Amino acid sequence: MDSTIAAIATAPFPAGIGIVRISGPGSLSILSALAQKDKDFFKPHLLRLIWAHSSQGKLIDRAFAVYLPAPRTYSGEDMAEVQCHGGLTILRTVLSTVLDFGAVLATPGEFTRRAFLSGRLDLVQAEAVASLIQAPNARAVENALRQLRGALSDEISSIQEALCKILAQLEASIDFPEEVDIPAESLRLALQEVRDDLGHLWKKAEAGESFFKRWQVVILGRPNVGKSSLLNALLGKEHAIVTSLPGTTRDSLEGELSMRQRTIRLIDTAGLGHDGGELERRAMERTRQMLSLADLVLFLVDISQPPQEEDRSILEELKGKNLLLVGNKLDLGDHVSWSEFPLPVCAKISALKGTNLLSLLSLMEKYFEDQATDDELWWLNARQRHLVKKALESCERALSLLAVAPADILCAELRETHAALLELLGGNMSPQVLESIFSQFCLGK
Ligand code: GDP
Repeated sequence: MDSTIAAIATAPFPAGIGIVRISGPGSLSILSALAQKDKDFFKPHLLRLIWAHSSQGKLIDRAFAVYLPAPRTYSGEDMAEVQCHGGLTILRTVLSTVLDFGAVLATPGEFTRRAFLSGRLDLVQAEAVASLIQAPNARAVENALRQLRGALSDEISSIQEALCKILAQLEASIDFPEEVDIPAESLRLALQEVRDDLGHLWKKAEAGESFFKRWQVVILGRPNVGKSSLLNALLGKEHAIVTSLPGTTRDSLEGELSMRQRTIRLIDTAGLGHDGGELERRAMERTRQMLSLADLVLFLVDISQPPQEEDRSILEELKGKNLLLVGNKLDLGDHVSWSEFPLPVCAKISALKGTNLLSLLSLMEKYFEDQATDDELWWLNARQRHLVKKALESCERALSLLAVAPADILCAELRETHAALLELLGGNMSPQVLESIFSQFCLGK
């Protein structure tokens, strides 16, 4: 790559430190110009304290700067980083100075794209970088890290290798029918093995999709039991307006809660069961809609009072749903008659005082607990899932044709499997497709 690119790599708001990243053949000379120092002032991989100056010689900031020579760098090219104070004006001035000295502004994901093009990462690993940044919870981070280290790529490559052997034999048998004769049984066994490995990969992708999806948890209960208060307490923010008037939440409010293993979309509903005008009717409809999508319902009751008819009628509507009965307003007393309710109260909390919220969270986490081990899941993006499925389907077609079709038809199906696996790892990609993949990355990555 001839050009040298640069971008601010840290978040665009004031912080203690901000980083400007540079990649390309001009990295060292740009760094020297910025520091007003000779090139040999910078020793590879060694942080140097510099006074950064603009192209007009004006002092910008005191900063750390490091020169990273190719090829053992993130992008595989010469790179440099300037760690300056994280004020937006400083960062923008450092960046515009770097551009004045010859760099061009990087497009989103361009550093990773260069890493891919220079062979530092395959496409699955490059995409793992984006997944790592977007990972909603610790388990997703672990999965993305395993992909970045190459575990998924290795799995795909070993299927690819086995497939190439079969294809080579089949092609030889087409070109030299008198000399090459593949025993039908050994071909069937080899093909079955590839199909099974692809099937296994697809199963892990499906398991990953359901594991890493956002689980919908709906908070439901009669008006004034503390639904909005619970949402606010769990999210730690004032999402919902809390008042002592029944029916304050007219529409559903929601927020995202990241647990260690799961990410939860927590929804506070308008409740069910109190009559009113058009507005209430629509709010009830929306609540029912949310309920139909819910993976878990937190059915909230007020344990400072005896159960009411409305609690029972809501519970009736929740038949067949996955429920946790949560007793709120523990600070006002624990009413014994709740023990006669058809469902045991599994958590007694005070949303107002924050009592027992951690036990409620761990009950929810336990509810979603999955015994799936790391090597039983892959968290794949839509492109990757599509290609794994395509590879599996064409391989299955080839297997079903084995006894009835000639070798060239079989080969055509298996070449499709091969092409899908190749594309998965980033082979034979058009620049336009690559551009659309990397444009979803962050700027500076
Ligand atoms: P919603 O209609 O179910 O969403 O109920 P809100 O969250 O709006 O709360 C209704 C009223 O109950 C408000 O005055 C809250 O401050 C109060 N409230 C909510 N949770 C508790 C609690 O744990 N203890 C007490 N004492 N009051 C609570």
